Amino acid sequence: MLQNKLISLGVFKDFSDDSIKSVFKAENNGIIEMTLIQNKKYDVVCVPTHHFCNLGCKMCHLTNNKLNKKMIPIKANDFIEALCKSTCLQTGYFKRRTEKKNVLISFMGVGEPLLNQQLILDVFKNESLIKKTLGYIDVSYALSTTIPNSNLFNNLLTMVDKNNIPLKVHFSLHTPFDHKRLDLLPSAKTTVNEAILLLKTYNKKIQCNKAIINEYIKFHNSSIPIEIHYTLIKNENDSEEELNKVYDIIRDNQIPIKFLTFNPKDNLQVSDKQEEWVEKLKQIPNIIIKTYSPPGKEIGSSCGEFTKHYYHEEIETEEEYLEFLNWRNRHKIDF
Ligand code: SF4
Repeated sequence: MLQNKLISLGVFKDFSDDSIKSVFKAENNGIIEMTLIQNKKYDVVCVPTHHFCNLGCKMCHLTNNKLNKKMIPIKANDFIEALCKSTCLQTGYFKRRTEKKNVLISFMGVGEPLLNQQLILDVFKNESLIKKTLGYIDVSYALSTTIPNSNLFNNLLTMVDKNNIPLKVHFSLHTPFDHKRLDLLPSAKTTVNEAILLLKTYNKKIQCNKAIINEYIKFHNSSIPIEIHYTLIKNENDSEEELNKVYDIIRDNQIPIKFLTFNPKDNLQVSDKQEEWVEKLKQIPNIIIKTYSPPGKEIGSSCGEFTKHYYHEEIETEEEYLEFLNWRNRHKIDF
């Protein structure tokens, strides 16, 4: 039975690409924001695993060491209510925003999914409630992770395999050098070598699970359930040494790679070397290389982008608050 406990704080639209973000407050005052992204084939909902995140990724717009806030895992009941409401017009009953038959639930919002694996399992176990409420036929899953440690990743693999969850893992690499990676992603304690081995193990194991692969290929063009993510930031992680090292990693391990366009933050700027990197990596035979400009830019919908106001109210300056009001006026829609 679906609960009805969340307070809606607003629905916001990116008019450039029709992404729609819904923001809720739970009973514990935690924020949940989810974004429905327009996709030709199926609905994609970008979802969080935590009410806040303090893992300190350097390129993230949310994390802030002036805030003394804990990372509280989102509970399944709150999550499912938010998911159902985010995919529907918020008029008090469930009328879906789109007529798509299938939905991809993508854990790429606030938080580190490996630190709230219970939520992923609970959502999967409640799939029939989600399908019944929303009328979807198939549901698939994805997450993006820095792989904070190998135990967490091994737990994930066991859970996914045992429960036959069609889950794609996107690994946030962002630099192939361990010392630099720790600086960019301070919570990522696995070395790059360890992380790549874990990814390959995941790929091998999941490829052997026919129940998962049969579901997985309904959503994806290949049966490879892993992908590396790299966001090129000017003079931060776009050096020639990094390109050469990434080339070796991709060539030796045959893992697809996707370049995500960076959303500038403070003095961090978008690199102008993406084309050069893609051209070089294209020299590797049979490798899937993608570039992706995350949708919903105006409403902060992707990993690390978010509506800061709802998390930063305590430390917000008057100027930032006015900026938020301005943003709200431009993007708020009725339902
Ligand atoms: S990018 Fe994701 S994991 Fe990193 S601090 Fe931001 S929300 Fe947390």
